[in-house]
Amino acid sequence: MTHTTGQAVDVSVSGGGAYELLGIALEEGFTGIGVKQHGPHKGRFLHLDDLGAIPDKRDGPTIWSYPR
Ligand SMILES: [Zn+2]
Repeated sequence: MTHTTGQAVDVSVSGGGAYELLGIALEEGFTGIGVKQHGPHKGRFLHLDDLGAIPDKRDGPTIWSYPR
């Protein structure tokens, strides 16, 4: 949803790169972070957005994982 409005991005990254990017994302103020780091490396990514609170969805900064 937020991808289509340019307010979110999924970055293909895994392992040490994912660790590094997560730290940078937090430093830079991203407030919505989704982590998919299971399965084949080519399918792993971090979702980043700066939407903050979304009525009925999230109260503020949040991080989540994706189901297998
Ligand atoms: Zn995403």
